[in-house]
Amino acid sequence: MLFIYKIFKLLNEKTLEVECIKQVVSKSFIVGISFIVLAIILLTALIYQRTVAIDPATMPIQSGPGISYRHIRITKRKRVLITGEQRNWYRVRLNDHESAWVPSWLINSKTPLKKSNHLAGAIIAIDPGHGGSDSGAEYKNNSGQAKYMEKTYTLAIAKRLAKQLQASGAQVVMTRSKDRAVGLRERVRIAENAHADCFISLHLNSSPDKNEGSGITSYYYHRGRSKKLARNVSHQFSNLPLTNRGIDFGDFLVIRDTSLPSILCETGYVNTHKDFHQIKKATFQKRVALDIRKGINHYLANY
Ligand SMILES: [Zn+2]
Repeated sequence: MLFIYKIFKLLNEKTLEVECIKQVVSKSFIVGISFIVLAIILLTALIYQRTVAIDPATMPIQSGPGISYRHIRITKRKRVLITGEQRNWYRVRLNDHESAWVPSWLINSKTPLKKSNHLAGAIIAIDPGHGGSDSGAEYKNNSGQAKYMEKTYTLAIAKRLAKQLQASGAQVVMTRSKDRAVGLRERVRIAENAHADCFISLHLNSSPDKNEGSGITSYYYHRGRSKKLARNVSHQFSNLPLTNRGIDFGDFLVIRDTSLPSILCETGYVNTHKDFHQIKKATFQKRVALDIRKGINHYLANY
């Protein structure tokens, strides 16, 4: 009897052991599968995060990181993998053999462009003249008490221009965005470092004695691209309440010592009552900004 009991006990212990092994194996199986599923989910999420939708209808697709590179034609919107980044442009994989570049700020924008224009993908440097201790030209009212400074209005127009350019899909680089002094060479350096496609310096004119001069002049230094840009922008100024004096050669450092298409616009005389009456108005500032935006867009369409 004792013998039978021992055999039974032994068998029972063996069965328990097998059950234990079975339980351990099935537990590790479940853990293993869960791990694989989790890895697949994470990997998919990671790949998806690195992919973006590119739309040829609203964004430039180029062979390099900038609008000056060759345009690559694709027929419809597609999802592509990001494989690199340079100068705020993403390099994306179109297929096994071909890569392209798209502006990252348009990809990441919460308000996608409704329609394409030539400013989409462009980098525009805006240079509000003067600032800080350098107030530029000044206007004093008749009593001589109130003093208005050029630096205030160049910045006001610059900010309106920046807003309009951004709404068209351009990236804006400002040489200053508040009332502070920036050296002339520093302004050029900021634009060059940003690999800007155009440089727009904003100023107001002044005459030795007040009320002597009037009108708008667009200056270029370099013939070729800068002169062409000046012509395109100046052409738009004809709708303004001040005389458009056209384009002229101007030996100013910020448009001379640059390698990119650069112009300097003097949008009225700050010490002429008639001109200043316009310059201080928001409607005038907006129209000047709109004209410059249009002019740059025309220039980029044909360069
Ligand atoms: Zn000035």
